[in-house]
Amino acid sequence: MKIVCPSCAATYEVPESVVASKRAVRCARCGGDWVPGAADEPPSAPPEEATVAPPAPVAPVAPEPPPVAEEVSEPELTAEPPPVTPAAPPTTLAADQWQSVAAAIAAEAAAQPPTPATPKTPIAAWFVSVALLAILAASSVAFRAPIMKAWPASTRLYAALGLYHP
Ligand SMILES: [Zn+2]
Repeated sequence: MKIVCPSCAATYEVPESVVASKRAVRCARCGGDWVPGAADEPPSAPPEEATVAPPAPVAPVAPEPPPVAEEVSEPELTAEPPPVTPAAPPTTLAADQWQSVAAAIAAEAAAQPPTPATPKTPIAAWFVSVALLAILAASSVAFRAPIMKAWPASTRLYAALGLYHP
């Protein structure tokens, strides 16, 4: 069988018995001594790698990458992130952006309240005062007799309004 000098890599063809005897041999080229059995291990190592090959099941593991490809093919996952990024910008808004946003909000607030509030209040107040005046007038006319009796001075007012004819 073939043996290799571990020192100079010289190869020798020796009988199988030499290796089996575990006897040390001397290299003719470099004079180094070594036991061929050990040098034989390298050749036998490949077989070990072959047994290590059981990692061959690793080949099945390699197919897992395909699943990864499936993940990549999932558009939904990639679609969801975008919504997340829009939310992120607010936190990364520059000071100028915040100012512009605040200005816009302030503008809206300033524009909205005045417009509706200004008309609403006067109109409501107007209706209330008109209603109160109407009630007051109606009651003062309806109860002008007792009023004039309790407050004679009011007689002139009612007379001026044509509601009383003394
Ligand atoms: Zn040698």
